[in-house]
Amino acid sequence: MSQENEHVQCLIIGSGPAGYTAAIYAARADLKPVMYTGMVPGGQLTQTTDVENFPGYPDGIMGPEMMEDFRKQAERFGTQVRFGHVSKVDFSSTPHKVIIDEEKTVTADTVIIATGASAKWLGLESEQKYNGFGVSACAVCDGFFFKGQDVAIVGAGDTAAEEATYLAKLCKKVHMLVRRDEFRASKAMQNRVLNTPNIEIHYNTDTEEILGDGKNVTGVKVKNNLTNETKVLDITGFFVAIGHNPNTEIFKGILDMDETGYLITQADSTKTNIPGVFACGDAQDKLWRQAVTAAGTGCMAALEAERYLAAAEHGSH
Ligand code: NDP
Repeated sequence: MSQENEHVQCLIIGSGPAGYTAAIYAARADLKPVMYTGMVPGGQLTQTTDVENFPGYPDGIMGPEMMEDFRKQAERFGTQVRFGHVSKVDFSSTPHKVIIDEEKTVTADTVIIATGASAKWLGLESEQKYNGFGVSACAVCDGFFFKGQDVAIVGAGDTAAEEATYLAKLCKKVHMLVRRDEFRASKAMQNRVLNTPNIEIHYNTDTEEILGDGKNVTGVKVKNNLTNETKVLDITGFFVAIGHNPNTEIFKGILDMDETGYLITQADSTKTNIPGVFACGDAQDKLWRQAVTAAGTGCMAALEAERYLAAAEHGSH
């Protein structure tokens, strides 16, 4: 493809439920949207198995299959879906500039940010070393590989509780590592964990090191943070479920965000602090983080982009 600059009316960054829904609406409004998928086309849902709570699928659907459906629907109305990573943006003047893979520049009248979020890690060297060889941040993606084995999961929020009960169905035993003396998860989720006989909860427990034989995980060294007592749990799988970080690094210093990096949008709107730039999905929502809520804000972003362009045409900006 030529490296010449290209101009579009509506550029969508990210390809999860928010990005694709924005694309469907923008394409049907004839904004001729161009989408850059990011490094994980389809987003976080491509790393899950069954999705049972998205309306319209009475029997449930696999996450990757659902995202294929989203893509097809967006393309059906003319969205150009391109694999590429937005490496830099310049929103200091109009049209807005977006740099793809550090080489191609696209200018856009409107930009819809749907970059989503990624799993947080503990930050241990051993965690990195064994990532993919026993260490995982997605129980529903990788739990299957540990069928009948002993595993550990770190975290005490709703995600950790949900994933622990999921793992308990597959694995012989699940050690749950909780850093305080209580859960953050909702009472209902906690009760599910407490009522699952093969989950052992270790309160006031920190992860010191993930142990392995150089190839695969063989155990985890944990420390009781009240007594400083350490012990090794024999496990073959280690799951991290301690929350997510929004993928908003490239917008730092450009767009308003909260202290944890979530983009701030105006009330009842997807408008950011820059006119013509809209944010939707998990990049701006740390509360709900559901496929259906992300899709809802994606729809809002496209409708707001359409209104912005119509107003610009009538000279009201
Ligand atoms: P949360 O931020 O709610 O929880 C993160 C958990 O990880 C906390 O228990 C926290 O401990 C723990 N943690 C963080 N850092 C570390 C660390 N370095 N070492 C050990 N533990 C650590 O994230 P979730 O992903 O669980 O949930 C995010 C949001 O999504 C929440 O609002 C949740 O309610 C929602 N959600 C809802 C679901 C549902 O309703 N079915 C399912 C999944 C998520 P501490 O408590 O000590 O801070």
